[in-house]
Amino acid sequence: MDLTQAAQSGLSLGFHSSPIPLQLLDQKQETRIDNEENQVEDEQFSILGHQMCIKRPRDNSSQSSASSSTTNSSKRVAMDPGLESRRAMVRAWGNQPLPIADPEIHEIMEKEKQRQFKGIELIASENFVCRAVMEALGSHLTNKYSEGLPGSRYYTGNQNIDQIELICWSRALAAFGLDSDKWGVNVQPYSCTSANFAVYTGLLLPGDRIMGLDSPSGGHLSHGYYTPGGKRVSASSIFFESLPYKVNPQTGYIDYDKMEEKAMDFRPKILICGGSSYPREWDYARFRQVADRIGAVLMCDMAHISGLVAAKECVSPFEYCDIVTSTTHKSLRGPRGGIIFYRKGPKSRKQGMLSHGDCSSHYDFEEKINFAVHPSLQGGPHNNHIAALAIALKQVATPEYKAYMQQVRKNAQALASALLRRKCRLVTGGTDNHLVLWDLTTWGLAEMVAFIVTRLQ
Ligand SMILES: *Cc1c(COP(=O)(O)O)cnc(C)c1O
Repeated sequence: MDLTQAAQSGLSLGFHSSPIPLQLLDQKQETRIDNEENQVEDEQFSILGHQMCIKRPRDNSSQSSASSSTTNSSKRVAMDPGLESRRAMVRAWGNQPLPIADPEIHEIMEKEKQRQFKGIELIASENFVCRAVMEALGSHLTNKYSEGLPGSRYYTGNQNIDQIELICWSRALAAFGLDSDKWGVNVQPYSCTSANFAVYTGLLLPGDRIMGLDSPSGGHLSHGYYTPGGKRVSASSIFFESLPYKVNPQTGYIDYDKMEEKAMDFRPKILICGGSSYPREWDYARFRQVADRIGAVLMCDMAHISGLVAAKECVSPFEYCDIVTSTTHKSLRGPRGGIIFYRKGPKSRKQGMLSHGDCSSHYDFEEKINFAVHPSLQGGPHNNHIAALAIALKQVATPEYKAYMQQVRKNAQALASALLRRKCRLVTGGTDNHLVLWDLTTWGLAEMVAFIVTRLQ
């Protein structure tokens, strides 16, 4: 809507010292002139189910007619001499390309592009999205508010956004070979940290217990972490109690027996597997056993390895876990964000919280997790991100993506072998996945390890 048009409608924007009138329909007189010139289009639309009709000038007549003395635009100028300059001010930014709109930011962005192209990036958690994903990210989809889920949004006008999110759901399930009767997905989390926190918020009460891999052992802050001094670092440790399990300092592998012992004592309500710098496979069956013994929900945060899982280049957590979260921008190669998969339908086994008095035969994650994402923790979904994720997930299901993921693993193996030949010490002595952990503690360089990773460019 062009808010600069002069009219006597009585509506105005309150933030101007002299109110700018708003109009929904052109004035009668102008409509008549337009009709004479045959330049009016009727636009049908509905508000809350009521059919409405708006009359608007065709083509660019309102812009190109400044010099013409017969058009309605020039009549308005005659009524309000400041109109054209106000209109120019409002539109000044509208259609300017970035280098003109903001050369300062554009120049820095160009430098960053060169840095990304020319350098060797070995950061395990980073990746490079394809052009189509970037186009969706930088699109008009960012303009739309769509709080809620497909079919039940707060605002109107979400028919296209609904379609995009539904496609994203089905591609997400397809990418991981999941049956939509048994698994649901939420694609709205802004990041994996927020995805994890949404799971805790939905399933737990403040002060309830969680247990994940210790951060210095390769876990993630969002699984609960206290500094050695006892400072609570992430919201997961501020609002919930956490006790971590660890890797065996000699072998670098998770110490499953100790994990079980700690879990039996601590009795977390959510047991978390998955981490940020663990180069080996996870024994999901063992985690399941422990979770069942203590009546915990088993959650996997597969943020780093989700691309490998999708390409079947590592063991899938879906067989054993109740909830699986992930980033979408690491090995999955999509836009920056988070995703949550949860079991639904009849329970397939004695599962978490049964022993805490929940005797229902069906999973109840869907409503709790969706409600936690919105309205508990987030507002409007980032629709540009969701469209970009749908695009990335389409690629994930192709043979080309599998080839890419296989090559990533080969590269990691090659790097590991080269380092081992040069007598470097790798944690666990090698890698099963996309990352290599090089122990620099013997060099006196780092507290624990340097963190090096490979990826196919
Ligand atoms: C990277 C990572 C996260 C955090 O993802 P963000 O999207 O940056 O919040 C969470 N969990 C694990 C295991 C990760 O590796």
